[in-house]
Amino acid sequence: MDARRALVTGGAGFLGSHLCERLLDEGLHVVCMDNLITGSLANIEHLFGRAGFTFIHHDVTNFIHVPGRLDYILHFASPASPIDYLNLPIQTLKVGSLGTHKALGLAKAQGARFLLASTSEVYGDPLIHPQPEGYWGNVNPVGPRGVYDEAKRFAEALTMAYHRHHGVDTRIARIFNTYGPRMRADDGRVVPAFICQALAGEPLTAFGDGAQTRSFCFVDDLIEGIWRLLRSDHADPMNIGNPAEMTILQFAREIIRLVGSRSEIVFRPLPVDDPKVRQPDISLARRVLGWEPAVPLEHGLARTIEYFRAHPRTAAP
Ligand code: UDP
Repeated sequence: MDARRALVTGGAGFLGSHLCERLLDEGLHVVCMDNLITGSLANIEHLFGRAGFTFIHHDVTNFIHVPGRLDYILHFASPASPIDYLNLPIQTLKVGSLGTHKALGLAKAQGARFLLASTSEVYGDPLIHPQPEGYWGNVNPVGPRGVYDEAKRFAEALTMAYHRHHGVDTRIARIFNTYGPRMRADDGRVVPAFICQALAGEPLTAFGDGAQTRSFCFVDDLIEGIWRLLRSDHADPMNIGNPAEMTILQFAREIIRLVGSRSEIVFRPLPVDDPKVRQPDISLARRVLGWEPAVPLEHGLARTIEYFRAHPRTAAP
């Protein structure tokens, strides 16, 4: 059998594990690579028995060797939650720069198509709203979030350089806030934080006055967008996210309602450089991929709440 073969870096993470699963479902062979700093074997346990799945425990900031041919390389390795990249600032910068360099070098050597998991953080605290791909962003390079934002911006620049200079076949997905099963209960992001707080009957911690906005995409929708982008011929960056925008306070109330909790909402200081608004303009994805999110927030959250009921956090983060 001559199945196409994909390498997923960060394959044991939240998005990476869903991606590995989808690629296997599409009939590809999948090499999952992860250094397990923020990813977890628990996310991919169910894939070990599947034909065509292999796991390599490796840090992609070091030279990557994968025996055999590769058709696709999907670079999803990186700490991705604000508290993770604040705790792991150097690793975050290294995986976005050195890790992307290694992964692109491998794509070049293999003649493989490369897809970069980029982020809405390249827009920083945006001055244009919603954010189209043509917006260059408003990033504080030396602020605490700069380690993630600039690493991803560098990764995009490097990807385009390999595309233009070496002719590597590349794709760039700018991923907006995504949620779903297999998020880490203690990763500090608002979705696991609020759901776990509501389930435990603890107060929900809204940062600042809770008036900042985010737009939440369910993981299945995101993966569908990534899969379509991978198979498209669009080399320029593309936003993949759900444009349904809400304030963090509205989001907290929605979680309390869906969990059926009596938790109250308390206010905590706003982290430095926390973007005030965020909403993807997905006209490009609609036009080029014929893609848009299909899962309503209420349904996606119900599945996520179910996951956290079954996987409660052990201690308060
Ligand atoms: N947030 C919050 N309470 C929390 C965690 C996060 O109010 O316990 C806010 C955070 O300040 C931000 C938004 O929720 O405005 C989304 O935060 P998250 O860490 O999920 O990701 P971000 O979109 O900032 O990368």
